[in-house]
Amino acid sequence: MMNRIYLDHAATTPVSESVLSEMMPFFRSCWGNASAVYATGREARKAIEKARKQVAEAIGAEPREILFTGGGSESDNLALKGTAFALQEKGKHIITSAIEHPAVLNTCRWLEKHGFEVTYIMPESTGLIDPAKVRTCIRDDTILISMMAANNEIGTLEPVAEVGAIAKERNILFHTDAVQAVGAVPVNVQEWNADLLSISAHKFYGPKGTGALYVRRGTRIDSLIHGGEQERGLRAGTENVPAIVGLGKAIENANRDLDINAAQTALLRDRLISGIMKEIPGARLNGTIAGRLPNNCNISFEGIDGEALLLRLDLAGIAASSGSACTAGNQEVSHVLKAIGLTENEAKGSLRLTTGTGNTEKEMDEAVHAISEIVKDLRTLYHGR
Ligand SMILES: *Cc1c(COP(=O)(O)O)cnc(C)c1O
Repeated sequence: MMNRIYLDHAATTPVSESVLSEMMPFFRSCWGNASAVYATGREARKAIEKARKQVAEAIGAEPREILFTGGGSESDNLALKGTAFALQEKGKHIITSAIEHPAVLNTCRWLEKHGFEVTYIMPESTGLIDPAKVRTCIRDDTILISMMAANNEIGTLEPVAEVGAIAKERNILFHTDAVQAVGAVPVNVQEWNADLLSISAHKFYGPKGTGALYVRRGTRIDSLIHGGEQERGLRAGTENVPAIVGLGKAIENANRDLDINAAQTALLRDRLISGIMKEIPGARLNGTIAGRLPNNCNISFEGIDGEALLLRLDLAGIAASSGSACTAGNQEVSHVLKAIGLTENEAKGSLRLTTGTGNTEKEMDEAVHAISEIVKDLRTLYHGR
């Protein structure tokens, strides 16, 4: 079988062995409904509360401030819609950035259709948001600021602590989508002054379709899913116990191994970046090297169609992404690359490679070699050079 190299860890990660083995008993022997009073139900309840503690500890929160959800998108939806509707008497203005994940951007667009006003702040060419711009956008009726901690496409680490401090000073709720940050950089709701923070397990070696929302004690928020009284009435539905247990274990692992994993993935990332820069003319790094996720490499190749590059890489056994995985497949170029000033063609010629703990240095060298050959080939094919 062909040697496969997975370089799309920003899209998803495999479930780690230790996470899987922690989850297994909750499919097999301990499958009770966590709301039940009998023993197997109580066991499930205990496991959920343990996971809640694990998540809380990883981000500097209290267990009762953690709500389990069906993933990062749901957490973002709940954070934005839930607080917007709870606070609409106070005001209807929301501030966010132009480079958020679609889970935030499209939720904001939906809120705009329901009477809310949203200001989308443009990033600098580095991909960083200037906190001073956030300050100038605040109005008397601003109820919420939502800014991602780390960008999923270009890996920028946004100034969330500064923005959180501004929000606190002005008595405005602050939400951060920390889906890419957890497991990559230290995440702490106190240091960031976050009132709401979104987490998704499958981005740090946990199962897909499960996540959490941190909701600071005392924050007014409406439920999106009505039904039973699960999750303090804020998220009805029988809990996905194995997934929640997996999330707890995965975030505990992620926090414990944070420094080692960050150093390892950064080493691989830097090998990729320097290899590509050395081997391939007409390549430019998107984002900034200084404030960047340890595992993110996003590069534009002059005169290249990213989709064609991706398909050729797939044939070579290399899994990567051009722009965001969530927008791949449709022709729209990345809103993030456009926002940092890339032309349509530059944006189309972009490749995102995100490293993980399972990758090796040898794989990086093989990937650089393959990308270099394919780029040469495609340039000859389309431009005769
Ligand atoms: C992946 C991702 C999401 C969505 O999370 P899901 O669990 O896949 O719904 C949201 N925000 C960011 C920044 C992401 O990278």
